[in-house]
Amino acid sequence: MSATSPHSTESTAFRSALDVIRGVEPRVADAIGQELHDQREMLKLIASENYASPATLLAMGNWLSDKYAEGTVGRRFYAGCRNVDTVEALAAEHARELFGAQHAYAQPHSGIDANLVAFWAVLADRIEAPALAAAGVRNVNDLSDADWAELRSAFGNQRMLGMSLDAGGHLTHGFRPNISGKMFDQRSYGTDPATGLIDYEALRAQARAFKPLVIVAGYSAYPRLVNFRIMREIADEAGATLMVDMAHFAGLVAGKVLTGDFDPVPHAQIVTTTTHKSLRGPRGGMVLCDDSLKDQVDRGCPMVLGGPLPHVMAAKAVALAEARRPDFQDYAQRVVDNARALAEGLMRRGATLVTGGTDNHLNLIDVASSYGLTGRQAEAALLDSGVVTNRNAIPADPNGAWYTSGIRIGTPALTTRGLGAAEMDEIAALIDTVLTATEPGTTAKGAPSKAQHVLEEKVSDEVARRASDLVSGFPLYPGVDLS
Ligand SMILES: *Cc1c(COP(=O)(O)O)cnc(C)c1O
Repeated sequence: MSATSPHSTESTAFRSALDVIRGVEPRVADAIGQELHDQREMLKLIASENYASPATLLAMGNWLSDKYAEGTVGRRFYAGCRNVDTVEALAAEHARELFGAQHAYAQPHSGIDANLVAFWAVLADRIEAPALAAAGVRNVNDLSDADWAELRSAFGNQRMLGMSLDAGGHLTHGFRPNISGKMFDQRSYGTDPATGLIDYEALRAQARAFKPLVIVAGYSAYPRLVNFRIMREIADEAGATLMVDMAHFAGLVAGKVLTGDFDPVPHAQIVTTTTHKSLRGPRGGMVLCDDSLKDQVDRGCPMVLGGPLPHVMAAKAVALAEARRPDFQDYAQRVVDNARALAEGLMRRGATLVTGGTDNHLNLIDVASSYGLTGRQAEAALLDSGVVTNRNAIPADPNGAWYTSGIRIGTPALTTRGLGAAEMDEIAALIDTVLTATEPGTTAKGAPSKAQHVLEEKVSDEVARRASDLVSGFPLYPGVDLS
């Protein structure tokens, strides 16, 4: 990226765009400008966030948005889709090459949507297709009412095994508040209480006994590696399809930090992801799969997805092209090195980390045992001090899923800004300073509160100043000057 200059191409592009928007609704232009300012000021440790490149951002703001393009590349239900075909084909091609996948589907609007596409692809492959074959028809419309009723009830009677929420799994892996939990009879696997790690032998026994249709691997808050070769072995033994949701760590797969047994793509039949987390693309989702599931996956729209977002697919193609460059591998390695440096800095200062460290892009601090705080109190105290994180449950969390006992911190965003190991140690010091100085608060009536915290302003102001000094040395969007 070029140095800050009011005359750089990037400055011109974004300023002109804001000028055009300002002519219609100035408050929107102001909010967009203010967001850049805010993002530049904050020390962002949210593990699921990042900063997309100017090229990726600009690819989204244009007339590709004006097209309806239901269907797939070359087979649309609308006329005039040749340019949408171009960008969707490029996004899929870059994804296939980058991840070594047989097939890529770039239409999902988000990670949740990608998971829904995947669940229904597996249901279509394993439940619907055999039912159609047994009835001797090719299309669901040709089933008798009785056969259709039977198939509909079979859809609702399938089992899923997914990682528990407090071990780091995701709501979309079969939990009741999400539609996946209403569709599937779900059981979850946790981690070994002694080590905090996935216990593959326990999982193997559980899968053999439960015989799920689908095993979902992948997480939002597990700081260690997952062995997908073993996961596939377990799935095969149980007669399950292995689905991996790599929403969080796709950037580490793209950047060749997670390879061999730790790369899900060669092992799982179907892999879902977001494109905006460690992968550093636009907000969106994607599905990768074997050719055997290709046709089912490509029915995602209109099966569960609204019409494709061609402008976002254009941005996915741009971001995936960036991720294929050698410097993305360097980025991914630095993300992991930084997470490790942060872990070491925190532990040296006495913090307890779930599993005692990290192998990926995130850490989970057990703030209850280290600092006597709930996650909610720690999150708020850190935010007062200019450090943006989020609270997260830890295994067997004594404070439940709302208040929690954990703080999740991730390095993808700050690594994009260029911060390194020395800065991570300084950040560990800031976090430790804040959490050590924070006390649990009380309610208005004086009762102990899991929500309130007490932190002297002197401390939060001082840390906020140091956090702001720290990031100011690493300009965000250095080529963009809106002043
Ligand atoms: C973030 C995340 C999702 C959801 O992604 P959205 O784009 O917010 O829908 C799904 N699965 C996992 C594991 C995630 O971390």
